[in-house]
Amino acid sequence: MCGIAAISANKEALPFLLQGLEKLEYRGYDSAGITTIEGNHLFTKKAKGRLQNLKDLLKDENVLGHVGIGHTRWATHGIPSNLNSHPHTNNDETISLVHNGIIENYRELKEILILQGYQFHSETDSEVVVHMMDYYYKKEKDLQKALERVITRIEGSYALCIVSTIEPDKVFIAKKDSPLVIGKTADASVAASDIPAILDYTKDVYFLEDYEIAILNKGNVSFFDQYGNPIEKEITTIPYDNEAAQKGGYDTFMLKEIHEQPYAIAETLRGRVEGTDRIVLPELDAIHDKFKTFNKAYFVACGTAYHACLSGANILERLT
Ligand code: GLU
Repeated sequence: MCGIAAISANKEALPFLLQGLEKLEYRGYDSAGITTIEGNHLFTKKAKGRLQNLKDLLKDENVLGHVGIGHTRWATHGIPSNLNSHPHTNNDETISLVHNGIIENYRELKEILILQGYQFHSETDSEVVVHMMDYYYKKEKDLQKALERVITRIEGSYALCIVSTIEPDKVFIAKKDSPLVIGKTADASVAASDIPAILDYTKDVYFLEDYEIAILNKGNVSFFDQYGNPIEKEITTIPYDNEAAQKGGYDTFMLKEIHEQPYAIAETLRGRVEGTDRIVLPELDAIHDKFKTFNKAYFVACGTAYHACLSGANILERLT
């Protein structure tokens, strides 16, 4: 899975971004990154591995921006690396974007964009979206309209949060088949992949639906349909505190994890299934030939995972 946190505020954005990403760590990730708007330029830092690596990078920085986006990545296209980490930026370095999900038609879009002169710096599917934002912004001269056009072109699943020096107070958001929850207080509006990330700020949240667009602008949030018509959305008041929210409304973490198994398996294999029944694990390509020489595999775990491993070992033994 992955985590997104975004904020437009009258105070510094970084504390919310880091705290939000921390609250989303349970979703699993392989790298992390942030962009804030600093005056008229984008300030971006990314680091492979734990969130702590990103925090270490930021330790001596004076990050003052009030608007920002953050991301913990679960790589589906391109290895976990600093270059593939989000946020991704357009060639003019005026637009920065985080994406959760998979852009299914990214190859064809990338080819078109390369013909238009766009340079790609990562192997991700996500990077096409930021260059398309740039492409349509140059046509429309309006970021919201550009986003509307982008979502008519991309196929697949996405939660997108976009910031730009062109409209430095705002975060532009769109989603399809990837979760995004939005909240606002008197002096800030925030968005995240899951409720625990924003619960310290507010219990009143909006759940963004597929193809809806949200714009965070300090203490204001506006919602639009995919054609740019304003829409009203209902506030949901979350009836539980942060600890209960982390348990997703279940009495115990164990119960939550049991119920999340189908989702967790689907998310773990996201981007690694070809057709309906072929699992592809490019991470193992480098040691593919060595497999033939192995005669023993160790499953290492403790607790409940130990019992899962006993079953796993049994299945592997039968299959091989
Ligand atoms: N598909 C994107 C990537 O591989 C986003 C993955 C995610 O949801 O974290 O970078």
